[in-house]
Amino acid sequence: MRTIDEPVNSILESPLVDGSPQSYRFRVVTHHIYIFSFVTHGLLLAIFMLLRADVLAVYNLVSCSVFALCLRMNRTPRYRTAFLIGSMEVVVHSALCVLFIGWETGFHYFILGIIPFCVVVPDLSLKRKVGIAAALVAVYGVLYLLAAQVPVQYVLSSTIVQTLKYANLVLTFAAFSFLVHFLSQASEEAERRVTEASRTDYLTGVLNRRGMAERLEAARATALRSAQPLSVIIGDLDHFKQVNDHYGHNCGDQVLVQATECLQAVLRNGDVVSRWGGEEFLILLPDTSASGARTAGEKLLQSFRSANFVCSSVQFSMTITLGAATFRGDESVEALIGRADRALYTGKQSGRNRLVCDGERPEETPY
Ligand code: GH3
Ligand code: MG
Ligand code: MG
Repeated sequence: MRTIDEPVNSILESPLVDGSPQSYRFRVVTHHIYIFSFVTHGLLLAIFMLLRADVLAVYNLVSCSVFALCLRMNRTPRYRTAFLIGSMEVVVHSALCVLFIGWETGFHYFILGIIPFCVVVPDLSLKRKVGIAAALVAVYGVLYLLAAQVPVQYVLSSTIVQTLKYANLVLTFAAFSFLVHFLSQASEEAERRVTEASRTDYLTGVLNRRGMAERLEAARATALRSAQPLSVIIGDLDHFKQVNDHYGHNCGDQVLVQATECLQAVLRNGDVVSRWGGEEFLILLPDTSASGARTAGEKLLQSFRSANFVCSSVQFSMTITLGAATFRGDESVEALIGRADRALYTGKQSGRNRLVCDGERPEETPY
């Protein structure tokens, strides 16, 4: 059985490190931002070495180490501390750059750039988010005033200043784009998971009634377009209530899982099994005529007869009654299922453990 919590994205080893999808979404974003920061600080390190700005070069080395640490911590429940450390690095680093090489180089953009990331930190109240944003704006203002007072330590040519300014602007917007990209990717993924879960039976992992209803409509449209036959079989476990009564509800659940496996084991690729109701299964047989449906139904009966159902070290056998119907070309899905259902009812009335095809008489003797 598949669970909807299965990791679908291998970006991080432990997708639900603290069990919440919100943290996963946030950590996917920060994971890429830390890599991005690690690489850009590596590039800045090279630039500052070329410019012989030793202090800044050393600081960039420290920055690379900080982001490497953030990357590691981001895989643990301390991912929010990692974000705090990373943000502080950005603030201190940007402030140092502004003070050493001037406001015009545009390093201050990164301080404001932290704000959109704070907005998506999981389990942080709106009040705190606003507080952090206000604090960042305040730091930005103080830095602006300070930069106007303090003379720059390294005077760079206007070409380099302009280049740095636009490079920093581009990097800030690139970081925003990362944020939007990964958040939209995460929300699409979440939507896909919810859609899949809403069409999957949690116990058996096959399609549920909603999922099967959609498949049936699609199969009917294909059958009409291509003039190919289409059949359905509806199956209901015999005396299933007794399993619950004798062995308990958990055992009943295990039997439902084993019954699903029993059905799937003998069907063709392309045939679709669904859990239509409590202990009722609806099977879609695309491109299958009435005689094909009979063959498939007989294989299904045989699969049940030869299976041993096991639960809490007790073994027992189970049977199923099946009703089959083949699409007539002008009827609705409901009408098709209705005919299969009536055939099933006839099978139950005639003694169970058998297949009845719509329009045919039930077998006189039980199998
Ligand atoms: P018949 O041969 O006429 O089909 O008899 P039956 O006992 O199978 O049919 P009935 O409709 O009387 O009982 C169906 C039982 O299926 C009753 C219900 O408690 C059980 N059931 C339905 N859904 C589940 C489920 O998810 N888990 C378990 N354990 N039992 C379920
Ligand atoms: Mg039933
Ligand atoms: Mg039943």
